[in-house]
Amino acid sequence: MAHLVTLIPGDGIGPEVAHATRIVLEATGVEFRWDVQEAGAAVMEREGTPLPERVLASIRRSRAALKGPITTPVGTGFRSVNVALRQDLDLFAAVRPSRSLPGVRTHHPPLDLVVIRENTEDLYAGIEFEVGSPQAARLRDLLQELDGVQVPQDAGVTVKPISVTGTRRIVQFAFDFARRGRRRNITLGHKANIMWYSDGVFLATALQERAANPDVDFLAMEVDELAMWLAWEPETLDVILVPNLYGDILSDVCAGLVGGLGLAPGANLGWEYAVFEPAHGSAPDIAGRGLADPVAMVLSGALMLRHLSEQDAAGAVDVAVARVLAEGTHVTPDLGGNGSTDEMAKALATQVRSTR
Ligand code: NAD
Repeated sequence: MAHLVTLIPGDGIGPEVAHATRIVLEATGVEFRWDVQEAGAAVMEREGTPLPERVLASIRRSRAALKGPITTPVGTGFRSVNVALRQDLDLFAAVRPSRSLPGVRTHHPPLDLVVIRENTEDLYAGIEFEVGSPQAARLRDLLQELDGVQVPQDAGVTVKPISVTGTRRIVQFAFDFARRGRRRNITLGHKANIMWYSDGVFLATALQERAANPDVDFLAMEVDELAMWLAWEPETLDVILVPNLYGDILSDVCAGLVGGLGLAPGANLGWEYAVFEPAHGSAPDIAGRGLADPVAMVLSGALMLRHLSEQDAAGAVDVAVARVLAEGTHVTPDLGGNGSTDEMAKALATQVRSTR
């Protein structure tokens, strides 16, 4: 039976890498019914919102979406489509694997890292007070009254909520993930020493959950120290569990460690829905020129195939990526080649067909 999947091409390089991914996934022989849904800046002009309800309705029907990157314009008054999707569908776990790939030169021994990022809370919760606004003035007065703190008049404020409930589910998810994938250990990153009542909740809740999961090695450290270990000896790390903002930053660091953003896939998972997307953004600097590396989105497609219980097809995509990268003749400029996005997609599809 064909899988119903919502396909959001996105903008910038999104449509190019989405098209490439579709070619590669269809080469597996798995049948899809794509429900193509546009979202983002162009849609905002036509429909008055960058994330129309029809997009969410489509994902609620299909339960699985493959999504290209979407530009977040600064200061338009609209929430990021990416953040909105994660919150509206309660996709509380972002899983971003970064694995060394053949033919890709890096500065470290072979790595196999996974960042698990809480995806709905923290400074990305969208609780924003604009500098000079009446709301910011009221908040300033309230904070003065409650805690005696003096927030400067010309400050904008972003609030950082981290809940016990939100933390418990991401920590339980991380332990299950580590156990199912036979991972070596989980390292949690926090700044509970500075942010007692937000990162403090993250750390304390995780330490409680740890007691219920003694079979998985678990270590907590301050996130700045974790960043140092990522730069110094990343091979000592395995699963990295972090709140939202640190996860956004550290997953890009991990992508850089294994060859760059063009190679890093991602999954946003909740109890009901799943949205698969590359870790990279819309890359306006190279959009429309056939230069975009499709691998991050293709590997996101492989993650989706596994989620749809198409393990063999997912394996074929992984093998095809490894072969095309190792061969190095059809790769895009970020990997030192001069192939186009389409050329690389065709080479990947040919490899997929040869293994099916
Ligand atoms: P970016 O990831 O788009 O680009 C950073 C650098 O990496 C650029 O030099 C770009 O050319 C390169 N790059 C990224 N993907 C590549 C690929 N597939 N192949 C080759 N090179 C690639 O980050 P940015 O420039 O900070 O963000 C651009 C826009 O994307 C912003 O509006 C940002 O908010 C948005 N964004 C969206 C998502 C998402 O949709 N999930 C994620 C991150 C950023």
